[in-house]
Amino acid sequence: MKCVVCKSSDIELRKVEEEIRVDKDIVLVPIEVLVCQNCGERYYDRKAMKKLEDIQAKARGKVLAVEDVGKVVRAKVA
Ligand SMILES: [Zn+2]
Repeated sequence: MKCVVCKSSDIELRKVEEEIRVDKDIVLVPIEVLVCQNCGERYYDRKAMKKLEDIQAKARGKVLAVEDVGKVVRAKVA
C-alpha cells in the first residue's frame, strides 16, 4: 500500500487518538489505524470506521463510558 498523499510506502498500524465531534463536545477515541510515517496521513479501514460510528452513536445516546482529560476552551480574540 502506498500513501495517496506523499507516495511513501512506509505505512504502519499505530495506536492514535481520533477526535470525534458530538454536538459541542469532542470525544477522544483510542484506535488502531494505518498511519503514513512520512506525512502522518491516517487511513481508516471499514472496521475502524464502524468503531468510530458506534462510539459516536453511543456518545450521542449518552451511554458511552468516558473520563475527563481536560477542558476545551476558546480564546477570546476578535
Ligand atoms: Zn504520506
